Amino acid sequence: MIIVMKADVPPESEEVRQVVRMAERYPDVHAEVRQIQGSTRSLTEIYLIGSTASIATEPFEEFPAVEKAIRIRERYRSIGRHDRSEVLGFEYRGVEFSQDTLHVFPGLCAVDTRENVEAMFRLLKEHGVRTTRAGAYKPRTSPYDFQGYGSQCLPYVFELAGKYDIAVIAMEITSEAQVAEIRAALDDAGDPTGVMLQIGTRNAQNFELLKMVGSQTDFPVLFKRGMGITLDESLNACEYIASGGNNKIVFCLRGMKSNFGDPHRNFVDFSHVPVVKRLTRLPVCVDPSHSVGKKAIAPDGLLDIHHATAQGIIAGANMVLVDFHPRPEEALCDGPQALLFHEFDFFMKDVEIVRRAYLERCKLAAG
Ligand code: PEP
Ligand code: MN
Repeated sequence: MIIVMKADVPPESEEVRQVVRMAERYPDVHAEVRQIQGSTRSLTEIYLIGSTASIATEPFEEFPAVEKAIRIRERYRSIGRHDRSEVLGFEYRGVEFSQDTLHVFPGLCAVDTRENVEAMFRLLKEHGVRTTRAGAYKPRTSPYDFQGYGSQCLPYVFELAGKYDIAVIAMEITSEAQVAEIRAALDDAGDPTGVMLQIGTRNAQNFELLKMVGSQTDFPVLFKRGMGITLDESLNACEYIASGGNNKIVFCLRGMKSNFGDPHRNFVDFSHVPVVKRLTRLPVCVDPSHSVGKKAIAPDGLLDIHHATAQGIIAGANMVLVDFHPRPEEALCDGPQALLFHEFDFFMKDVEIVRRAYLERCKLAAG
């Protein structure tokens, strides 16, 4: 059961203590207090853990400071919507992430030279985009492939992010040591930007890694769906992050590994955007670059990557991760799927058209 307190009742208040005391009077029930920091307000929730099946919700709802008591039937205790209608989202570095917002994260799949990072960030600044992706640590299928420049490139990535006014960089990590390196490099650079820690599809069930990013709240987490596991398994993986206390999570669809998706790199799964939004409170990201994996063009003049992006946005996606590179033939990772700089303007305009269409559809549905 979850007891949702009224808006802005702080977790350390007497009102919360009263509820906890009453809950713990029941045998084998333990109460856990959580503060959910939304983008505009915070919410205190009390989780009753243990034998709660026979406990009535009404006595809790009689407390004036209690908004409602919810019996959880579904599995996703922390990330799930249950019947919590309010979807809070979160704010990070002045950027709001929720199921209502949309942010595009165009950037380099893997960081290479300082010049390319600067060219990328300059392009973003010219278009007023303050969110990007930049891979420093690259877990690769083969140990002989480029593994990313790691901590070596962080100083210039962060320095340039400051110079070009980048607010948030999505960056994959595979270990706690890498998070420490990011933290130290941000400190050294004078904290010029924010980092969203990306859990790659290959680590979707690396439970120790999930618990680690869940036990810190400095950085939000971009969780990429496991490429060969069910949606339920991926949502449970997010539950590992959220149950550790970090509810700043974005769930990313990036295609499923299957030959049924041929000739695309992965089988595009963006029809799951509304499913994830219905089952959870998480903003949903789509990654058309890693889903499609190539720059094939359709007879209508649109790249398959454009089509996949539009499919994600028309379904209500809240974030788009997309690879660009000034010279894809020289890229050290995933060059064949990188869009070119002269394609940037088109890409952003296309996103805008589809987003507008999505919002109109919502209006129509609302009557
Ligand atoms: C990436 O975004 O660079 C990446 C490796 O993605 P995924 O984990 O989805 O393969
Ligand atoms: Mn990649």
